[in-house]
Amino acid sequence: MSEAEAQTRAISDMISIHGTSAKAVAITFDDGPNPEFTPQMLDIFREEEGRATFYMTGEQIARYPDTARLVQETGHEIGNHTYTHPHLTELDEEAVRAELVRTGDLIRETVGVQAATFRPPYLATDAQVERIARELGYAVIGGVNGAARDWEMPGADHILEASLAVAEPGSFLLFHDGYGDRSQTVEAVRALVRTLKKEGYVFVTASELLAMES
Ligand SMILES: [Zn+2]
Repeated sequence: MSEAEAQTRAISDMISIHGTSAKAVAITFDDGPNPEFTPQMLDIFREEEGRATFYMTGEQIARYPDTARLVQETGHEIGNHTYTHPHLTELDEEAVRAELVRTGDLIRETVGVQAATFRPPYLATDAQVERIARELGYAVIGGVNGAARDWEMPGADHILEASLAVAEPGSFLLFHDGYGDRSQTVEAVRALVRTLKKEGYVFVTASELLAMES
């Protein structure tokens, strides 16, 4: 972690775990919707029962609105992941606001709901980004399993083990259903969900997890 990243983390209100004794986790996917991989993630949660959260970019929703609607219709949560996937910490206030507003508007036009949670691309956030997100009504969501690095395709076993190692009640777990070949993520998340289910966990959306009593 660079010094700048460390400072960002230190001042960040990004939520990676919500204090609760309930055996519940929020499994989340970034960078979709993706017509090939998003439906495979939905299959996992239909087969094993539970709900997930999909942090979509405006660009991907504009390309694949039917996939976005499928996510909504099958009971999952759609969150805001900006329109163009920039490093928000490098943008001025107006540009940050535009990224969030434009995407929120498109989500509402496409699936008819107001997104309530937001994940910054690259988890790059600072006080300005978080203030704007809060003003627009978003909770800023991180993830506990950054070491899984599923976007780098480190192998399904690595993604699974690095996620299991840090999963605990109230965790937000971060994966990707877009941006490249996500077949390792599909395999790892299927195994993760089966394993955690056997341990008594349930799979809830980000907003549901945030609403759980501690
Ligand atoms: Zn992303």
